[in-house]
Amino acid sequence: MKCLKCLQRAYYNNFCRKHFMEQIESRVKREIREKGMINKDDVLVVNDPIIKFFVKKAVSGMPLKFAKSPGKNKDAKIVMLWTLDDEVLSFMTDLFGEETPAEGKIPNPEIRIIKPLRVVKEGELMAYAKLARIGFRKKKRSKREEEIKKAIEKIDEKHLETKFSLLKSIEEMKGLEKD
Ligand SMILES: [Zn+2]
Repeated sequence: MKCLKCLQRAYYNNFCRKHFMEQIESRVKREIREKGMINKDDVLVVNDPIIKFFVKKAVSGMPLKFAKSPGKNKDAKIVMLWTLDDEVLSFMTDLFGEETPAEGKIPNPEIRIIKPLRVVKEGELMAYAKLARIGFRKKKRSKREEEIKKAIEKIDEKHLETKFSLLKSIEEMKGLEKD
């Protein structure tokens, strides 16, 4: 299999290493920009090296402060390691009337949570982390969540854009709730 862009050997998503990394980075960059997630002089609470890596890459040159916890700073934003799989899974488990896992809940409603990696699939993030040599732990999930995830995975394999169209529907529904 060759890269769709340069005919080098494909690594992931039918792209070579370089073009695969570019694909993921530009997706995250676009998400941060379109949602206005990060602004100059923001204090970002980051606990995962991969999140820090992506944020720095996406907003290169922008002055930011990184912290391990929000402390008393009410303007701090928590940058959560939350992939497209988490987004779809949390939507599906909600739909089936199941508990949202604790880490998906907002610890303090005053503190803003941003999820710049929600446009990246877990598998893509793992493949990226491997290339960039950044540590990335796969999330622990309940048996039920694993079952639902497997079912989504199967559909996504056949129809590559399934997770993305689900994300679009989730956003549309969330938009309706607000009105
Ligand atoms: Zn390429």
